[in-house]
Amino acid sequence: MQSSQLLVERNNPALGRHDLASEPLRADVPLTREAACHFICAADDELPELLATARLARDGFKPGVITYSRKVFIPLTNLCRDYCGYCTFRRDPGQPGAHTMTPDEVLGVARAGEKLGCTEALFSLGDKPELIFPQMRETLRNLGFRSTLHYLEAMCDLVLRETSLLPHPNPGLMSSEWISRLAAVSPSMGLMLETTNESLLATGAAHDNAPDKVPVKRLRTIEEAGKQGVPFTTGILIGIGESPEDRVNALLAIRDLHQQYGHIQEVIIQNFRSKPEIPMRNCAEPNRGDMLRTIAVARLLMPDVNIQAPPNLSDPDYETLLDAGINDWGGVSPLTPDFINPERPWPHLQQLQQRTNAKGY
Ligand code: SF4
Repeated sequence: MQSSQLLVERNNPALGRHDLASEPLRADVPLTREAACHFICAADDELPELLATARLARDGFKPGVITYSRKVFIPLTNLCRDYCGYCTFRRDPGQPGAHTMTPDEVLGVARAGEKLGCTEALFSLGDKPELIFPQMRETLRNLGFRSTLHYLEAMCDLVLRETSLLPHPNPGLMSSEWISRLAAVSPSMGLMLETTNESLLATGAAHDNAPDKVPVKRLRTIEEAGKQGVPFTTGILIGIGESPEDRVNALLAIRDLHQQYGHIQEVIIQNFRSKPEIPMRNCAEPNRGDMLRTIAVARLLMPDVNIQAPPNLSDPDYETLLDAGINDWGGVSPLTPDFINPERPWPHLQQLQQRTNAKGY
């Protein structure tokens, strides 16, 4: 593999404390933390070389192939005990749209997806709603389960037994016992780290009133999955009040866990999108440059890990994300909407293929 030629000038004031002159940007050597902190804020004239190096690293990892996962999304319940400032998915009981799916509904979606050639059932759901909502406790009691996780376990088992789809649960924080139980009925699972910045838990910040978004708890879940050898999907959410350095710290935390346990199957770089109904509606969205820099740095920190970005959150020109070194579009469904960002439909699969092909893949 070639290395890129970018050498940063020794006296570049943008470098701050770190002297990168002796540290050329290379596709075959993972970035140091200092270099990552620099390049995540790369100047415009550095960007082409940064992206070219990230593409080289991607091509050294999986040359010529960009993948996606054809799946159905199963929003098992949109009740949630957290109140993230950017979320339009969650509901309180009684709010319009509040819903917990029945087993028949779960199976109906899975079977319809099976007919369309889907291979995975991604369960997305709120975190432990029964802890604060008696209505959810009653719903679960009527269904015959003690907790949302017990119900999720049964629904994963149902999909696994009755269809050809592979369940992939995303239920939020999990104990070691629950990782083990869910691993028995699903070959992989996921939890977005989102950030390692604890100040986002402060009053008025993105994770104010979101007890399941404490970074150390999320890292513990990801680590526990590693200890048990469970293939795991995680990632970061950018534009929720974190700094560029925070993004590097979160990526490094994921890299460290992957180096220790080797279980991270993909890292998602997700961009915050504003919506009129959310508390964070007046916050600025990350721009394309932020996404490109973050993806490129993620690629160069983890050259041998799948790096993905959701195409629907970067419409209409999502294919430019390929320039920064992603090798996977993540889950795209021919059947179900993106329940987390319902206003942003998945691209048609044919269009996704055409645009990916046009980039040379
Ligand atoms: S993002 Fe997830 S944890 Fe946060 S409020 Fe929405 S559903 Fe709950």
